[in-house]
Amino acid sequence: AALLERIERIDPALNSFISVTGEQALNAAERADSARQQGKAGALAGLPLAYKDIFCTEGVRTSAGSRMLDNFIAPYSATVVDKLERAGLVSLGKTNMDEFAMGSSNENSWYGPVKNPWNSELVPGGSSGGSAAAVAAGLVPAALGTDTGGSIRQPAAFCGITGLKPTYGRVSRYGMIAYASSLDQAGPMARSAEDCALLLNAMAGHDPRDSTSVSRAVPDYSRELDKPLDGLRIGLPAEYFGEGLDADVEKAVREAVKVYESLGARVIDVSLPHTGMAIPAYYVIAPAEASSNLSRFDGVRFGHRCDDPASLEDLYKRSRAEGFGEEVKRRILIGTHTLSEGFFDAYYRKAQQVRRLIRQDFLDAFDKVDVLMGPAAPTTAFKLGAKADPVQMYLQDIYTIAVNLAGIPGISIPAGLVGGNHPTDHRPVGLQILGPHFGEAHLLNVAHVYQ
Ligand code: GLN
Repeated sequence: AALLERIERIDPALNSFISVTGEQALNAAERADSARQQGKAGALAGLPLAYKDIFCTEGVRTSAGSRMLDNFIAPYSATVVDKLERAGLVSLGKTNMDEFAMGSSNENSWYGPVKNPWNSELVPGGSSGGSAAAVAAGLVPAALGTDTGGSIRQPAAFCGITGLKPTYGRVSRYGMIAYASSLDQAGPMARSAEDCALLLNAMAGHDPRDSTSVSRAVPDYSRELDKPLDGLRIGLPAEYFGEGLDADVEKAVREAVKVYESLGARVIDVSLPHTGMAIPAYYVIAPAEASSNLSRFDGVRFGHRCDDPASLEDLYKRSRAEGFGEEVKRRILIGTHTLSEGFFDAYYRKAQQVRRLIRQDFLDAFDKVDVLMGPAAPTTAFKLGAKADPVQMYLQDIYTIAVNLAGIPGISIPAGLVGGNHPTDHRPVGLQILGPHFGEAHLLNVAHVYQ
């Protein structure tokens, strides 16, 4: 109840929530209380959290940040939502996001931009900007995000919290509104790696309703958090410290790496030679998958429908023209073009070949080192409206996107503040730590020892 009051007081300025489900939350909290009294409650029972508005939640609006789904009440819950509910977590509502998770600043939302809690002139990052801002502002101790090309790690970095993108297939995608299905992965955003570990324990695992989820056993992610880091081999990819990286971000990241050295780690220079191709490959593959996934929003089955259609064709055209925002339309056009006959080999097939090379870069690096470290983003949080050019915005993803193309896990943790002397000039920096497929337990351990 105290948090609901805090949301009511603070969120009108922040805009981190699209829907607050106060009544349901109070009922769920009561159920968790009585379970505890009967000695039946688990470790997470009663813990409040919020879901990015891309996770279907039964009986609650699930908008994906789009006018298209402004009227959509999900008839069922995503598998992760079910799992967390069964663990006793209490949802306070649904958080703001870039429309259909397309964006890096949360400015593409039909519900308006989110403000960064550190400074209201700055963006919170995106696309899980509402989740990051809500956690950073102390409105919820934890939130769920999704990461297709950095959408958990970059907003976590901009808001000074911890965010984990698990290995592709570790967490079920069932009931998560699809953006680019071969890249999308849900993950926890919280104040510490320890909290992320507890959430991942409850989220991970095989789901028969998602054929890309893997049946590999789920370890206890909390068990190895304190393991000493003696002898840890840290790789610093040359490509993650090159042109385009802000000097103050680089300095903060290198200082964090020094802390690891003082804890017994060894630093090794490595190279991920195909890094430069990650953004072009991603912006072929993701829009291609998106154009296919978004074809279901036709104004007939669910979602926005235009007034007085003159014909079926008119219904499709106007419903989609009115329902989708500018960035979403841009991606549908790109995706439809690259998949069309005559262009498929030149774009989509090429991009898939590049994807394989990028994955191999990481596999080669993990032959030599245990983890890779670098910045989560080339800059700290920028001003609202500062990146009006879409290509400038896409460059935000330079250190995050290859990770999704390769399917490996990554975490962003706070690595200090940069900026002026006044508290409102402080901007958080995110240290990104990457590991081999299914290396989440080790990543969380490496993150926790620093924290
Ligand atoms: N910024 C990237 C995009 O717009 C990544 C988004 C995401 O991870 N959902 O596609």
